[in-house]
Amino acid sequence: MRLVTTVEELRAWRREAPPTLGFVPTMGALHEGHLDLVRFARSQNAAVVASVFVNPLQFGAGEDLARYPRDLAGDREKLAANGVDLLFAPAVEEIYPQGFTTTIDVGPVGESFEGAVRPGHFRGVATVVGKLLHLVAPQRLYIGQKDAQQSAVLRKLVHDLAYDCGVTIVPTVRESDGLAMSSRNLYLDERERRAAPSLHRMLRRFVELLKAGTPFEIARTEAANVLEAPGTLDYLACVDAESFAPLAALRENCFVIAAARFGNTRLLDNVWLPQ
Ligand code: AMP
Repeated sequence: MRLVTTVEELRAWRREAPPTLGFVPTMGALHEGHLDLVRFARSQNAAVVASVFVNPLQFGAGEDLARYPRDLAGDREKLAANGVDLLFAPAVEEIYPQGFTTTIDVGPVGESFEGAVRPGHFRGVATVVGKLLHLVAPQRLYIGQKDAQQSAVLRKLVHDLAYDCGVTIVPTVRESDGLAMSSRNLYLDERERRAAPSLHRMLRRFVELLKAGTPFEIARTEAANVLEAPGTLDYLACVDAESFAPLAALRENCFVIAAARFGNTRLLDNVWLPQ
């Protein structure tokens, strides 16, 4: 596996790259969820590029940018062992040189839910992924279902700006107790970690109640009781998978989404109902 840190080296490699390229953007501190994206990409392309870049533009003031977990040496080993051909791990100045002001805003799909709690977050995500897609120019982009709204934002980005690139959404990889794998799980203390799997149980209960015909608000209230202390609910909702517009019932191609706080850590999870 080649490790490159500059745009110049990446461009030089890209000029000689194999004909089909899969791309997996990450913020590092890699776990099995990220590696599953890599394995999907590996099985469908002649070569795989991964990036590790903790993107300051998607963190708000007072968020966890400074303490976000970083382990480039460990990430490098994991990516090499899973067949990545090129790892792009740039410094912040390489992506955002002094005077950088251009950003990408995908509009309403990035304004509700996570976008409302974290203003500017999806502008940061779309800007960095837009730049990385432009540099890597892959045939296919691999992103996780775990971050449902991010997947809708990135599909919109690729569609609206006509990147010549397919998007594959990879199912969420979970711990054995059902907790969605996330780099932020490292922040949980013992009590929070014990309660965290109830986030997924709550989502499953909500879907089960709706499928049984329970009225929406009654189902939401009953399901919310499944979330265990010290978890506190931010939202539990049903949205259109493309636009992220709220729905008042299940329907084809929707996400049932939830976010909850465990201490200072916000965890996200969802269930996707493609049909
Ligand atoms: P991050 O490093 O958290 O920005 O995540 C990089 C990519 O990995 C994103 O496309 C995430 O949606 C995806 N990802 C994160 N956690 C998981 C998981 N548990 N299962 C599958 N994909 C994941």
